[in-house]
Amino acid sequence: MEFCPVCGMLLQIDPGTGSHRLRLFCPVCPYVCPIQNKIVKKARLVKKEVEPIFSTADEMKSAPKTADPGKLDRGFAQ
Ligand SMILES: [Zn+2]
Repeated sequence: MEFCPVCGMLLQIDPGTGSHRLRLFCPVCPYVCPIQNKIVKKARLVKKEVEPIFSTADEMKSAPKTADPGKLDRGFAQ
């Protein structure tokens, strides 16, 4: 995202035509910025630390349990 240095409005993309190439323009004031180089912005990715749902094995013992899905399938077939 690029902003107008004159008024601070968000710049919009003007696709190139026969008279001019691809450029950014301000919809409010007459500012125009021709695009000469490829616009690249790199941001380093910081991975989020994974938080365990159960931190200890004792908490897993008291966790809610579901029925065995294999037994449910046989129940519907009969
Ligand atoms: Zn402007």
